[in-house]
Amino acid sequence: MHYVPRILVTGGAGFIGSFLCERLLETGAEVLCVDNFFTGRRSNVAHLLDNPKFEVMRHDVTVPLFVEVDQIYNMACPASPVHYQFDPVQTTKTSVHGAINMLGLAKRTRAKILQASTSEVYGDPEIHPQTEDYWGNVNPLGPRACYDEGKRCAETLFFDYHRQHGVKIKIARIFNTYGPRMHPNDGRVVSNFIVQALRGEDITLYGDGEQTRSFCFVSNLVDGLIGLMNTEDDVTGPINLGNPGEFTIRQLAEQIIEQTNSTSKLVHRPLPQDDPRQRQPDITRAKTTLGWEPTIALAEGLRPTIEYFRNEILEMI
Ligand code: NAD
Ligand code: UDP
Ligand code: UDP
Repeated sequence: MHYVPRILVTGGAGFIGSFLCERLLETGAEVLCVDNFFTGRRSNVAHLLDNPKFEVMRHDVTVPLFVEVDQIYNMACPASPVHYQFDPVQTTKTSVHGAINMLGLAKRTRAKILQASTSEVYGDPEIHPQTEDYWGNVNPLGPRACYDEGKRCAETLFFDYHRQHGVKIKIARIFNTYGPRMHPNDGRVVSNFIVQALRGEDITLYGDGEQTRSFCFVSNLVDGLIGLMNTEDDVTGPINLGNPGEFTIRQLAEQIIEQTNSTSKLVHRPLPQDDPRQRQPDITRAKTTLGWEPTIALAEGLRPTIEYFRNEILEMI
């Protein structure tokens, strides 16, 4: 009989996690989505609930979890500055205690485990574009540290469980990702700008708007995560997953105004503390190890994202 893998996705009701659950179900796997619904929403996975191979469990990963699984995607963690700074102590606990519990689970069940790490481990980078061997430039005391240092410590834990206990680990360093199901109020740049443009409100450029980010469409990212999970056991990463197409925040605003035919004006707001000046992934390793690279350009990926926010805004009225 064909063996059906059992896959745990923590943070599975979130933006990226929900697309990951969907794609894993399409491969025929059984998927257990574990989420405390801090930033995730039931509506993100509501369309999957009829599938008998899908299960949702309300649970906080800072608490031990005893289930039997073959693979773990550890996606649980608020990702937008507004959300991760809301309760910074809980953010660090989610990354650190969450990693310990999920690694303990992986050790006991001999499951492979993938960590959703982040380009934030590079902080405000001094080398450009960022390669995986760059150690980063993170302020350990600032308002972003709960997220950045929590994720850095999680990477340390992954490598120590690998060396000390032989756990099969995979670390993905995810760069800015966007698409439908982003939370309309999560304060990230893509969601903020689209919502502002659709409502005809001012578009808020923090600082001079000349800082850069590289934006990856969510379906491309999910392909990269699954590709990484299915590599040979000796592939641990870290591997950068992101779209190397780099834009200034001003260019992003102009692109969104054009695609929404908006009358919104650009206005300036203070730059948040420790805001990275530039960010672009070097994806040589992902290309050579996974044969993966993004295929969806920003203008193309913004189309379905704008449509999603149009419907969200209508529902809010
Ligand atoms: P998201 O906020 O939409 O999803 C995170 C999910 O984790 C939510 O469903 C939330 O309810 C859940 N969660 C938070 N704390 C939890 C806890 N203690 N226990 C259980 N569940 C918890 O964010 P996202 O953009 O989908 O990000 C998913 C993962 O990818 C995160 O780990 C994030 O750090 C990482 N990541 C995302 C990006 C990006 O641009 N979106 C970039 C780099 C890394
Ligand atoms: N853990 C868990 N699920 C499991 C196995 C372990 O949540 O199936 C938790 C466990 O409660 C512990 C953590 O993972 O808090 C780390 O486990 P490990 O075995 O490494 O450490 P120990 O139990 O020896 O402290
Ligand atoms: N940003 C902005 N206006 C907004 C929201 C964000 O100019 O309304 C800027 C922010 O200062 C940062 C960039 O856009 O330079 C990306 O911000 P986001 O919070 O999406 O992600 P991160 O900083 O974590 O990459």
